[in-house]
Amino acid sequence: MNTKILQVDRVSPDPSAIGEAARVIRTGGLVAFPTETVYGLGADAMKPQAVSRIFAVKGRPPDNPLIIHISRLEELYRIGESLDWRAEELARRFWPGPLTLVVKRSPILPDVTVAGLDTAAVRMPRHEVALRLIEAAGTPIAAPSANKSGRPSPTSAEHVLADLGGEIELILDAGPTDIGVESTVLDISSERAVILRPGGVSREEIEAVIGKVEVHPSALGLLIHGELAPRSPGMKYRHYAPEAKLIVVEGELGKVRSAVQALAECLMKRGLRVGVLGSDGHPYKADVLRDLGPRSNPSEAAKRLFRCFREMDEEGVEVVVAEGWQDESGIGLALMNRLRKASGGAVLDANWLLEELRDSPGRVYTEVIGT
Ligand code: AMP
Ligand code: MG
Repeated sequence: MNTKILQVDRVSPDPSAIGEAARVIRTGGLVAFPTETVYGLGADAMKPQAVSRIFAVKGRPPDNPLIIHISRLEELYRIGESLDWRAEELARRFWPGPLTLVVKRSPILPDVTVAGLDTAAVRMPRHEVALRLIEAAGTPIAAPSANKSGRPSPTSAEHVLADLGGEIELILDAGPTDIGVESTVLDISSERAVILRPGGVSREEIEAVIGKVEVHPSALGLLIHGELAPRSPGMKYRHYAPEAKLIVVEGELGKVRSAVQALAECLMKRGLRVGVLGSDGHPYKADVLRDLGPRSNPSEAAKRLFRCFREMDEEGVEVVVAEGWQDESGIGLALMNRLRKASGGAVLDANWLLEELRDSPGRVYTEVIGT
C-alpha cells in the first residue's frame, strides 16, 4: 500500500484535504492525523473491521481499548451512559483538550473499539485538523497513538511514516504537535475518580473542578532504590520506549548529574555506545547528548521527550542514561510516568549508584546490561 501524505495548515486546514481524509475514514480506511498531544491513528469507531485494522497495524494487544475522539459534546451522551455532573463540568472546562474521560459505554459501540469492556474512553481534541476531520467524517473516530505498539508516540508526521509507512492509507501532516505527551486518562465510570494515565491536563487542574482524585499506582511507574533493574512483575509492558535500553537515575539533582556521568563513563569504557538525556544544557560527556531543556519548563521537556527517544535510536545508541524528573506537580507527573514506563523499571537511586560505581563498577555493568 502506498501511504499518501497531505500537508495541511494547522489553523485553517484545506477543506479538500479534510474531505479526502474523511472519505478514507467513511470507507473503512485508516488516517493518521495530528492532535494537540501526539499523532493519532484513526478509524471509524463504529466499524468493527476498520477498528480491527488499527490493532493489526500497530501490533496492539486486543485487550487495550482505544480512545474515541469526538467533535461535538452531544456525541459524549450518545457513546456514554449514566453520565453525571462530573462529566459535564470536566467537558465544559477541558474540552476541546488533552483530557480523556472513561465513562460507562452505550451498546451502540462495537465491542472491538472498547476491547469488550463496559466502559469507553472519550475525548474532544484541541486541534483544528482533528476536529474538522471528525466533523467531515460524520462519525466518532477511534484513535490510539499512531506508532507501533511499545514505541515512543509520534509527535510529527515523519515519526508516523517511520512506524506505519506502507500500512495505512493517509497521513495528514500539520507539523510537530504542541504537548508531546498523550492525554490524561481519567476514570469517572464509578464514584471514585481515578487518573489511569497522567498527561496533558494535570491532577491539580482536575481537582479544581471535581475535588479529590486518586492516581492509580501503575501511573506512577516504579521506583527501585538500591537494586538494579530486576524485572518487575507489576510492570506488564515496556511502553513509549526507544529501542536502546533506558536507565533513569533519580535523586537530588546534583547527585543525579554525577551519577549519570559516572554511569555513562562506566558503560562507554566497556565499549557501549551511550546516550545521555539531560537538562539545563548540562555538559555531559557521552557519545550522544540530548537535552530536554530547562528544569523550570517541564512542558517543553514533555514536548521534546519522544523525539529525543527516536533520535537516540537513529544515532545507534545502545544505552540511554536519563536524568529523572521527580516533580509530580503539573505536567511533571506525566513526564515522570513516561520516563519510568519507558525504562521498564530500570529506575536507579543516584546515591546508591554512585557508591556501587565506586566499589564495583564491573558488577554495575553486568547488572545494568544484564543478559
Ligand atoms: P493511546 O491512545 O495509544 O494513547 O492509548 C489509549 C489509552 O487509553 C490506553 O492507555 C488505554 O488503556 C486507555 N483506555 C482506553 N479505553 C479505556 C477504558 N475503557 N478504560 C480504561 N482505560 C482505557
Ligand atoms: Mg499509545
